Amino acid sequence: MSDDRTTDDERATNPERVADCLFCRIIAGELSATTVAEDDAMLAIRDIAPRAPTHILLLPKRHIGSAAQLTAADARLVGAIFAQAADIARAEGIAEAGYRIVTNVGRWGGQTVDHLHFHLMGGRPFEWPPG
Ligand code: AMP
Ligand code: ZN
Repeated sequence: MSDDRTTDDERATNPERVADCLFCRIIAGELSATTVAEDDAMLAIRDIAPRAPTHILLLPKRHIGSAAQLTAADARLVGAIFAQAADIARAEGIAEAGYRIVTNVGRWGGQTVDHLHFHLMGGRPFEWPPG
């Protein structure tokens, strides 16, 4: 999805970007973030307010509102994001002890940025169920 505030250049690189979406703006390079990994389809950045020693966000470059908007056509994308998360966990040194991958959906799910992202968190033990 794009709108009137989206330039032709931006449409060319990410035709699905949403102009006022925080993560679309990071993906477009308009806002800075610490990149951990990147490929054609996804970007991994450090969370600006980490809740664990390692707290990384994995985002598809294409704007998808949340996991509730995923379809079977996104299977390859989601698989690639989880594979990337496992690679990053190894690189960050949290794989052996274990870690958590979480995606929040909607208000009661705790979602505050409406662009699909997976939290990769590690470096400390986590409780179950989460609060
Ligand atoms: P959620 O609450 O599940 O939607 O997660 C949104 C996450 O984005 C939170 O953990 C925030 O700390 C993080 N966040 C917000 N703004 C930024 C930013 N500019 N750069 C990196 N992470 C951010
Ligand atoms: Zn977005």
